[in-house]
Amino acid sequence: MSSPDLTDAERQAVLEVVNTPNLAMGPKIDAFEAAFRAYAGSRCALSVNSGTSGLHLCVRAAGVQAGDIVLTTPFSFVASTNVILFERAIPVFVDVDPQTGNMDPVLAAQAVQDLMAGEAAARKWLPRQGVPADGRLKALLPVDVFGQPADFDALTPIAQEYRLKIIEDSCEALGAKYKGRTAGMLGDFGVYAFYPNKQITTGEGGLIVTNDEKAGAYMMALRNQGRDPGDTWLQHTHLGYNYRMDEMSAALGVVQMSRLEHLLTTRQRVADWYTKYLSGIEGVEPPYIHPNTTRVSWFVYVIRFAAGIDRDRMAKQLKERGIPVRPYFLPIHLQPYMIKQFGYREGDYPVTEDLGNRGLALPFSGKMTEEQVSFVCSTIRELIQESS
Ligand SMILES: *Cc1c(COP(=O)(O)O)cnc(C)c1O
Repeated sequence: MSSPDLTDAERQAVLEVVNTPNLAMGPKIDAFEAAFRAYAGSRCALSVNSGTSGLHLCVRAAGVQAGDIVLTTPFSFVASTNVILFERAIPVFVDVDPQTGNMDPVLAAQAVQDLMAGEAAARKWLPRQGVPADGRLKALLPVDVFGQPADFDALTPIAQEYRLKIIEDSCEALGAKYKGRTAGMLGDFGVYAFYPNKQITTGEGGLIVTNDEKAGAYMMALRNQGRDPGDTWLQHTHLGYNYRMDEMSAALGVVQMSRLEHLLTTRQRVADWYTKYLSGIEGVEPPYIHPNTTRVSWFVYVIRFAAGIDRDRMAKQLKERGIPVRPYFLPIHLQPYMIKQFGYREGDYPVTEDLGNRGLALPFSGKMTEEQVSFVCSTIRELIQESS
C-alpha cells in the first residue's frame, strides 16, 4: 500500500547513533524537536513514541477527566477516539463534511450549544448508552483527514465561546496548510505521527506541538514516567507513561524532516498522476480538495466509487490483479467495542458511513512511478467497463 522514502543519509544517521552508547534521551531527540519548533513556529515540540501517545498526552493536558465529553468525528483512524476512552471520558461524535471527511462545523456548533445547554438538549447528540448523566464537554478533537486541515476558522470561535480546548489530530497532515497556516498549529495542541506510511517516518513515533508552555512542561513530565524537572530517576510527581521516542528514531526523523519539502513534492506528483489517469473513468471520483486547503499534504489517495459500483468487489478484483487497496475508513462508531459500549447502530452517522462504504485507498507513496500509477488506473478502468 505504501513505502517509506529513505536514503543513505537516513541509514548513516541511524548507524551513527548505534555506534554510540547513547540510545535514549540524547542529542538526536533535541535536534528532532528543534527541527519541529522551527518548522511549526511553536514554542514547544515534544517527541513521543507514537501519534496515539501524543494525542493521549494532549487529552490529559486539556484537563479531560473521567466522564467528561470530547467532541470528535467517527470518520478517522480509531486512535483519535481511543485516546478519549483511555481517560474514561466520552467521545461524542458529529458527522463529517461529505466532501472533505472533516468535522462538519455547522453540526459541531449545534452540538456544542446543545451539550452546554443541559441534559435535555444534549441528549440527541449522545450515544444511546454508556454515558454518565453529568458529563461536561471539555474539548474538541477534529482530525485533518487524508492530509487536509479541518475548518478551524469555523471551529475556533465555537471553542472559544465555551472555553473548550482544541486538540488537532494532524497525524495525517504534516506539511498541509490551511489558508496559509501550518496544519498542527491550528488548535491548542497539535499532533503529528511518523509510522512508515506517513509523510515522514521514524519507524514508530509522533510529536506534539503547542504554544502552551505550561501544558508542554506537564506533557514532558507525563511522557517521562511522570518525572517533573526536579525529580530524580526514581521520583515521580505524576502518574506518567513511558511515551519517549528513542535516539535511532529521532536520528531518522531529523534527516526525514530535512527532506520534508522533497517528500511532499514527490507525493504531490504521484497524486497528480493519479488524478490525470483517473479522469474520465465513469463512476470514480478523485479526492476533493477544499479551497481552504492552500497546500494538501498527500497521505493516502482515496477514490470514491459512484453508488452503483460494488466497492468491495472492486477491491477484491484489484487485489487479485496484484494491486493492494484498502477500504478507508471503517467508521469508528461501528467498531465492535464501540457498539458494545455505546450501542451504536448503522445509520447513526450517515455521511461517515457513506464515505466509508464508497471509499478505496489506492497504493500510494512518493516512490511510485508514473507507470505504476497508470497501471492501477487502467486496471480500474477495465474492471469498471467489465462490470457495466
Ligand atoms: C496515523 C494516525 C494516528 C496515530 O497513529 P500511530 O500509529 O499511533 O502513530 C492518529 N490519528 C490518525 C487520524 C492517524 O491517521
